Amino acid sequence: MVVKTFLHCNQEILEWCWASDHEMMHSPYWASCYLIDGLLIDSGAPGGVNDLRNFVRSLGNQKIGACVLTHTHEDHAGGAYMLNYEFSVPIYASEKAIPILKAGYTYPEYRQVAWGKEGVLPVAAELLPNSISSMSGRYTFHVLPIPGHAPDQIALIEKHREWAFVSDGIQVKYKRIFGSSSSIPEDISLIYRSIQEISRFTEKMTNLKIFIPGGKIFGRDLIDHKLQEIWNLRFEVHEFITQGFSVDEIVVKIFGEQDIFDSLTNGKLSKKNLIISLIEWIK
Ligand SMILES: [Zn+2]
Repeated sequence: MVVKTFLHCNQEILEWCWASDHEMMHSPYWASCYLIDGLLIDSGAPGGVNDLRNFVRSLGNQKIGACVLTHTHEDHAGGAYMLNYEFSVPIYASEKAIPILKAGYTYPEYRQVAWGKEGVLPVAAELLPNSISSMSGRYTFHVLPIPGHAPDQIALIEKHREWAFVSDGIQVKYKRIFGSSSSIPEDISLIYRSIQEISRFTEKMTNLKIFIPGGKIFGRDLIDHKLQEIWNLRFEVHEFITQGFSVDEIVVKIFGEQDIFDSLTNGKLSKKNLIISLIEWIK
C-alpha cells in the first residue's frame, strides 16, 4: 500500500491518503481523510485500516473528536468501524447512510483490487445534523446533500474559510459511471443538479477551495467546467440519438472503444453506463 499526507491551508487541514499497491492498479486510486481541528472527514478504505490505525496513533494527544462520512462507499466508510470500536470516535452520516452502515457490506472483486477485501464492517452511526463544528468550535461545516454519485452523499462546506469537501460529488473527468447492474448505480442528471447546488451554495465564495481525494485542490472554476462538460455530453448524445445512432455507436463516437475498466468490471463501471444515464435524462 501507499500512504501520503498533505498539509493544506496554513496547516489547518491534514489530508491522509491511502492507495492500494495491488499489481492490477496501474496508477494509484486515492482514498482521503481530512483532519481539521479534531474533526475527521471520511475514514478511508477497508484495505487501509491498519495504516489508518497507525496514523491515528501517530497523532498522540491530538484527539479525533468525531468522524463525518460523506457517503457509504467503501473508500470513505471503510475505517469507520475501527475508529468507533478502537478509539471511541463517534461516526456521523446522513439519514440514508445510517442503515447501510448499520448492516455493513461486502463488494465485488474488481472493487477489492482498489479498496481491499475486508468489506465495510457494521457501525452504528449517528445522524448528521444540518451543520457540524470542529472540536474547538473554530470551524463550522454546513451539510449539503449531493445525491447522484451515491444517494446518501453529502458535501461539507465551511463558509468562512470557503472550503468545500465534495469527496466524489465532483469527478475530475466524466467518462464512465457505475450502472444499474452494479450495487452502487450513479445518475448523471442528479450529479449535474448536485453540482448546481454546490454552485448556488458557494456563489459568493470567490476564493472557494474544492478538495478532491488524492491531495487535489481546485478553485470554483472546476464547478463551471464540470457543469459545461456534462451539459456538452448531454447535447452530443441528444444529437446522435436524433440522427438514429444506437447506444453502442454513441459510446464509440464520444468516448472511443471499450477499455480495461469496461472489461475488468464486467460493464458495471463503464462509458456505456454514462451514455445510458444521459439518454434516461434526455427522455
Ligand atoms: Zn464514492
